Amino acid sequence: MTAIVDCPVCARKTEFSPANRWRPFCSERCKMIDLGQWASGSYVIPGDPPDPEQPSDAPAPPPRDRN
Ligand SMILES: [Zn+2]
Repeated sequence: MTAIVDCPVCARKTEFSPANRWRPFCSERCKMIDLGQWASGSYVIPGDPPDPEQPSDAPAPPPRDRN
């Protein structure tokens, strides 16, 4: 009996078994995508911590949330 799960990235049906080394992902690609989301800040903690390099009397930096 092999458990079948949905890949968290692409939602493809994926074997959750020792034979699938990328479980719970369907492939290395999806695993990397998921890790990349963490690294690139898709999961952001609300509120930027103060930048210790920034002097307190410096003008505010331009907004970064628009391109
Ligand atoms: Zn996938």
